[in-house]
Amino acid sequence: MLDTSIESPSTNQDNQNLKKIYGQLQSEISEALEKCQVPSKQNSMRTKQLWNWTFLGGVTELSEIKNMPKELLNQLSKNYTLSRNSIANEQKSNDGTIKWLVDLASKNNSTNNQIETVFIPEENRGTLCISSQIGCTLNCSFCHTGTQRLVRNLTSDEIVSQLLIAKDRLDDWHKNNPNNVRKITNVVMMGMGEPLYNFEAVKKALLIITDCDGIALSKRRVTLSTSGIVPYIERVGNEIGVSLAVSLHAAKDEIRDILVPINKKYPLKELIKACENYPKIKNSSKITFEYVMLKDVNDSLQDAKDLIKILSNIPSKINLIPFNPWPGSNYICSDMKRIREFAKVLLDAGFSSPIRKPRGQDILAACGQLRSETIRLKSKK
Ligand code: SF4
Repeated sequence: MLDTSIESPSTNQDNQNLKKIYGQLQSEISEALEKCQVPSKQNSMRTKQLWNWTFLGGVTELSEIKNMPKELLNQLSKNYTLSRNSIANEQKSNDGTIKWLVDLASKNNSTNNQIETVFIPEENRGTLCISSQIGCTLNCSFCHTGTQRLVRNLTSDEIVSQLLIAKDRLDDWHKNNPNNVRKITNVVMMGMGEPLYNFEAVKKALLIITDCDGIALSKRRVTLSTSGIVPYIERVGNEIGVSLAVSLHAAKDEIRDILVPINKKYPLKELIKACENYPKIKNSSKITFEYVMLKDVNDSLQDAKDLIKILSNIPSKINLIPFNPWPGSNYICSDMKRIREFAKVLLDAGFSSPIRKPRGQDILAACGQLRSETIRLKSKK
């Protein structure tokens, strides 16, 4: 395991009052150029140039842009920047997983302004797991992040910045990959926080990273994971159009109320109905259901049968996640024999039910283990 401190070229502290270009939709960039008196005939071309340098060239300074007038770039630099949030720490797991601890701007004088972003390389693909909040309000009892109180929602540029930081560190920019072989092929919003409690910022960030003139990640390769905030589920399909994952973890309300307490507000009956009506599944995409395997809690073969029953009307993939312990957790992972039996019951009923291989466990980067370093160090004192 490697643990490295990174020196960032420009920090968020330097640029707190400047807007980030990569947090703007193309229409907003176009408005900014209009304010800089760019002639309307040139506006669309200049917008595309700025967008290309930002999302294909990966530039971090406006002065690196070569084909736009210097005067215009100077004018833009009074209000806008391309600087990233700074990286406080980078850890590399024995299995190649990389975790970045990212410093965000301090708001309300809070000292806990760090999030974690994780890159998981696999054969023929690389997945980036990004965060939507600092901490979380939902207290899912198996999740380490749930023990960290919510500090604040991330802004859309802080969400996009996580992808840019990872591309910087992995040297994953289009200009350096003429054959367009990307290291980051998929993005999952499964890091710290509940994305649907930060809907507008998440929506804007995902529209930016899937915009076909920029990074152009396919919407099928971007997954938003929710613990089940029912009123927003239809909006995800209609307004963002990405793949949906649901942290399900139980097929009975009495168990889910304990594992995912938001279930008391949005019980399984409502959640399943919202999934059945998810706009995207009409286009043959499946919904992914996450199911953490907890010994003697939710891992009986009857639990598997209950799961089959409630998901019978939804094209589903069920990801079985061996529980990743964290300091102070109260659960034990199910035996591997039981996980395989559970998977077979689902498979025999026609459900795709892969068992997720734990990744990055030695750096606490696996599913449900994210929590900012500041908090972790404080809790050790
Ligand atoms: S599983 Fe997700 S929603 Fe639940 S506490 Fe953890 S970060 Fe929050």
